[in-house]
Amino acid sequence: MLAFTAARLLTSHGVLESALLLVDEGRVVDAVSAAARQLPAGVLPLNFGDSLVVAGYLDLHVHGSAGYDVMDDAPEALPAIERLLARHGVTSYFPTTVSAPIDTTLRALERLADAVEKCERDCSGEQKNTKRTGRAQPLGIHLEGPFISHARRGVHLSEHLLLPKLETFERFWQASRGSIRMMTIAPELESAKELIAAAAARGVCVSLGHSDADFSAAERAIAAGARHATHTFNAMRPLGHRDAGIAAAVLTDSRVTADIIADGIHVEPSIVKLFAVAKGAEQTVLITDATAATGMPDGRYRLGSMEVDVKDGRCTSDGRLAGSVLTMDVAVRNLANFAEWDLPAAVAAANQNPARVVRNTNKGVLAAGADADFIVLDSHGNVRRTFVRGVECSR
Ligand SMILES: [Zn+2]
Repeated sequence: MLAFTAARLLTSHGVLESALLLVDEGRVVDAVSAAARQLPAGVLPLNFGDSLVVAGYLDLHVHGSAGYDVMDDAPEALPAIERLLARHGVTSYFPTTVSAPIDTTLRALERLADAVEKCERDCSGEQKNTKRTGRAQPLGIHLEGPFISHARRGVHLSEHLLLPKLETFERFWQASRGSIRMMTIAPELESAKELIAAAAARGVCVSLGHSDADFSAAERAIAAGARHATHTFNAMRPLGHRDAGIAAAVLTDSRVTADIIADGIHVEPSIVKLFAVAKGAEQTVLITDATAATGMPDGRYRLGSMEVDVKDGRCTSDGRLAGSVLTMDVAVRNLANFAEWDLPAAVAAANQNPARVVRNTNKGVLAAGADADFIVLDSHGNVRRTFVRGVECSR
């Protein structure tokens, strides 16, 4: 049994003062006020002093980091990405594909499924492997494209985009052995509705994005089973006061959660605030859309099969924004500043809310039975220490 104490600890019910966190076998045994529970005999607590302890962040949209793309076949790619994510407070994530030739996508899905399944095995009760801890865990795959709009493709290459077809999805699904847990799709495309319903029936979180849909097409997709939106405002028909479009559906429909890239570059700070007001404390989700360039100096990097240039925090391909170099710790601080939210509210948009989006009850909260993934923050939201399943990640 491990014990940790801190001035403050964030639970789903709010902030606990002078808190005690008990961990055993990689899971939370209890998260309580220190006065409410005696330490088990012989257990010496590790004291985090004046810090705020919160559940680790879950990033639903990661293309890469530390010089590597999640679609790279190099064996060192995912470990390098996962160590960098952990340094910024991310304890679990969804490796995210970009539109690519179909065989490239199939091979990437097989490799990513291997990583997701290996992580599940290593973390399961019977054969715990401590080598697996110390870095962020891949929980499932986010398929971003190829079922997206030519008009709103961003930097996804036209020649790799496909119309939504059940047979094509089925090939992806088989290659991923069911590890696709999230899919971004443009709902206005022919046959999108059938695919949305079929994917949702398999438990995939269907997310609207890279879309030129009007308001009613977006609403029909939500009725068909879509329940999230991808990087709201980016690669999306803009919100017009006489052309409400998909953005208005995403902002106003309480059946959908939505994510946003809060780097101050992809979306202006005042629009991040508008978004936070519209979606509220429980449906606002932060993502990074991080690329291989994240955590690296300015230069040229890969995004899937494309090349992107990074200069002064902007990641572009042929002049278009191409993913980001944002890290989740910065996104949380930005949301707090832009939306004038307190730190715990901004933190929830990076842990509790995304975990709810993908219906993972073991992540995103510090409560008895949950995975002991937690981070230690200073009062400004800087990440001091990161623990995955009770084991500290090196910095
Ligand atoms: Zn992306």
